Amino acid sequence: MLISGEQIASRVIEMGRQITNDCGGQAVVFVGVLKGAAIFLSDLVRQVEVDASFDFIGVASYGNPRGPKQEKIWDSTGEVRLTKDVEHSLRDQNVILVEDILDTGLTLSFLKRLLLGHQPKSFRVAVLLDKTSRRKLAFEADYVGFTIPDAFVVGYGLDYAEKYRNLRDIYVLPTPPAVD
Ligand code: 5GP
Repeated sequence: MLISGEQIASRVIEMGRQITNDCGGQAVVFVGVLKGAAIFLSDLVRQVEVDASFDFIGVASYGNPRGPKQEKIWDSTGEVRLTKDVEHSLRDQNVILVEDILDTGLTLSFLKRLLLGHQPKSFRVAVLLDKTSRRKLAFEADYVGFTIPDAFVVGYGLDYAEKYRNLRDIYVLPTPPAVD
């Protein structure tokens, strides 16, 4: 186990307070990145004391699927595509993009560019986890739950082949032995 459900809960309360303070009473649209950020978003929005609405956006990477096995497999090829767009225009809204994990930075760089095209009033990014050592594109989130080492993690929304999303805690998935 890397981060317990209790540690996550108290950090999410702190992040919610910080967001509430930064919002100065203005309404916010939270945009969650499917599917990994759904659980984080649902906990976070309940800790924010401003008028909040939410929407979801979906992306997929071309190339190899993510997995715990080796660098080659879970390195993205750099090609990100949209699988589900937001349902409402974000024009003139205060937007906070909510993502489970910031890794190479490719996904969030892509989404930032896309969502800035809506001409929001303000745009910020909240991530639960940040693997700073894996960055390929410079990207900094405005709110970071935990900075973690370079390991493949599951739980609290994060999956491996669609499994483990419902775990309360976050775990490092061990590298399976190589099969010839
Ligand atoms: P990036 O585009 O920053 O490389 O990757 C972000 C996406 O890769 C995340 O939204 C997440 O879906 C996936 N990802 C990166 N690292 C991990 C990890 O350790 N575990 C899981 N389950 N997904 C990860």
